[in-house]
Order: sequence, then structure tokens, then C-alpha cells
Amino acid sequence: MSRRLPNATIQQIGADRIDKLLTMSKEAVRNGRDDRARRYIDIAMGISGKTRVKMPKERRFCKNCHLPMMPGVNCTVRLSNHKVIMRCDACGEVRRLPYIREQRT
Ligand SMILES: [Zn+2]
Repeated sequence: MSRRLPNATIQQIGADRIDKLLTMSKEAVRNGRDDRARRYIDIAMGISGKTRVKMPKERRFCKNCHLPMMPGVNCTVRLSNHKVIMRCDACGEVRRLPYIREQRT
């Protein structure tokens, strides 16, 4: 049996690693390495599931192809009908976010 760390410690480590991976993922997109960017998001999601740390809301990524959404780089942002429309340029996935939630974050 391995030594158990307290849950709070595990979640702290998890949050740190998720944060780091999401930063690396964005970096990878900037360097034109979408394959790495997706891999980093996948690892971050794995850590999120294992440690039950939620993926940070303000760092959005495409739910379909797991690329970080970066307006002006790989996604298109439009406003229409009281919603923010985010379209992933890589796979065409569209997300519609109501303004209210946008204003809260
Ligand atoms: Zn996508």
C-alpha cells in the first residue's frame, strides 16, 4: 500500500499541474504544434478527473478536438442574439455562451 496524501494536497498538486499544462498547450498552439496542444489538454483532463479538480472555466478549450481556444489564433468569436459564439477553426465546433455567464466570470 502506498502512502496516501491528504485530498487537499492532491487537489493542490492537480490544480497546479492542470494550470501548467494549459499554459504549455497554448504555447504549443503558438508554435504551430496542435498535436502537442491536444496531448497537453488530454493529460490535464486526465488529472482533472483523477484529482476531481475542475478544469478552469476561464481557460476554454474545444470540447470536440481539445484545442485551447485562442481568439484571433484558432477560434472565431462573434456576438449574436445575446450570446457569445465561439467557433473552433480546427474542427468547426461551435459553442454558444449566454452573456450572463460571461459577465460572472
Ligand atoms: Zn475544435
